[in-house]
Amino acid sequence: MTIGERIRARDAEVGGISVRRLLPYRARRTIGAWCFIDHMGPVTAAPERSLQVGPHPHCGLHTVTWLLEGEIVHRDSLGSEQTIRPGQLNLMTAGAGVSHAEETAAATTTTQHGVQLWVAQPDATRHGAAAFVHLAELPEVGFGSLRASVLVGGVGDQVSPAGVDTPLVGLAFVSATDTSGTVPLDPSFEHGVVVPRGTAQVAGEAVTPGELVYLPPGVPSVDLALAAESHVLVLGGEPFGESVTMWWNFVTRGRDEAVEATRAWNAGDPRFGTFDSVLDRIPAPEVRPGIR
Ligand code: MN
Repeated sequence: MTIGERIRARDAEVGGISVRRLLPYRARRTIGAWCFIDHMGPVTAAPERSLQVGPHPHCGLHTVTWLLEGEIVHRDSLGSEQTIRPGQLNLMTAGAGVSHAEETAAATTTTQHGVQLWVAQPDATRHGAAAFVHLAELPEVGFGSLRASVLVGGVGDQVSPAGVDTPLVGLAFVSATDTSGTVPLDPSFEHGVVVPRGTAQVAGEAVTPGELVYLPPGVPSVDLALAAESHVLVLGGEPFGESVTMWWNFVTRGRDEAVEATRAWNAGDPRFGTFDSVLDRIPAPEVRPGIR
């Protein structure tokens, strides 16, 4: 097989630390229902350089948090307070509205390294209830010498308990030593492959942090080889048949909904709930002209 588009990340900043934004990109807004891929760190936490994201809202999406190193405390308007560590998954469903904050755990000087992913909710569920689940353990799969945790969806009979609304898969490959194998893919899915740490060969091509490789629908498998101490994410899904508008932390259909979500958050509308946080609430910026 040949790989499709190969994209370089854009640099951005979230909560005081630099991130590599791999999705959306110019030519593509979604891969399956995955609509946002931020790779944060690695950065060594210090009071002036640690992840501190104050209360902010979401709608129309799931957030998926996955760490390679360090830990983050999540608090939300559902009353959740949860520390997440490497190998664990946080899945928050926004539906019509939720708000949360993410902090580097107090008094840590450890390295922070992880990914934050968003999954667009389809029209059928995007006005629904908010929810939060923490999964301390995930199913694992192996292909050749490759080993992966199943974040969402499944391969064969290994299925993640994380509930999402559209056909989707997320696999996290971790290697202590050189590993390789052939990963079976659902040919009705499109996929993106990113490398948060180390180096991987994807269909024979070297891929490093800050790059995303897109695999179009129709690909039945991909050969993957990880150098020692590498970490690779394979994220896929059925092409998302709905056109989404992404503005700030909102996934909507069209500009008017984004304007209304912005107004509601800035007015303290109960739609997004409330909770106590030592961090400042983050105001929503006015929707930029040109957002459709
Ligand atoms: Mn968030």
